Amino acid sequence: MYTEDNFIMINSLQHYIFCPRQCGLIHIDDVWQENLFTVRGKILHEKVDAESYETRGNVKTVYSLRIHSYRYGLVGRCDVVEFRQTKNGKQILPVEFKAGEPKEDISDKVQLCAQVFCLEEMLNTKINIAAFFYGKIRRRNIIDITSELRTQTEEVIDKVRKMIADSKVPIVEYSSKCRNCSLITVCQPKALNHKKLKNYIKELYNV
Ligand code: SF4
Repeated sequence: MYTEDNFIMINSLQHYIFCPRQCGLIHIDDVWQENLFTVRGKILHEKVDAESYETRGNVKTVYSLRIHSYRYGLVGRCDVVEFRQTKNGKQILPVEFKAGEPKEDISDKVQLCAQVFCLEEMLNTKINIAAFFYGKIRRRNIIDITSELRTQTEEVIDKVRKMIADSKVPIVEYSSKCRNCSLITVCQPKALNHKKLKNYIKELYNV
């Protein structure tokens, strides 16, 4: 069990999968910059970022629910959680809003699975499905919270926790994803790939 002092943000998992250096810059060095993609995400989230709830029929919808897990040492928010009363009892469905469309990597799924970990602990229940709402395609996609996804999520949590505990921002090669990264001007990935500079930074920070 972790204490609140050791909690890590759920969104750090997604940042880590996108790029470990981006995760380090945000969650160790406290760096943040907006770009087109982050602003699009913010605009979509404005609709669900106010803490509130509504009830329609047998569904209670809670917006911007604060969540945490002492078992995994996580803290964050769910955009939306639906509590649906069915014949077989209560069904709990976290729904994460995304500005774009489904990603090829597992970053969004890991983020959602981490939310499930928190809700399961807080509500003492088991959650087998969760959903994304994608702004670009205006569609809700249901995903299974499989044992494989749970294991992948636990592995990412361990890696992020270790990186933050070591307090070392990793150096990463320039790649095509850098073009979409809001931190490119701070990170300077091409400059970092210069051999002499790379060696200098490695010696300076012992990374
Ligand atoms: S610019 Fe590239 S290397 Fe730097 S943080 Fe972003 S994705 Fe990672």
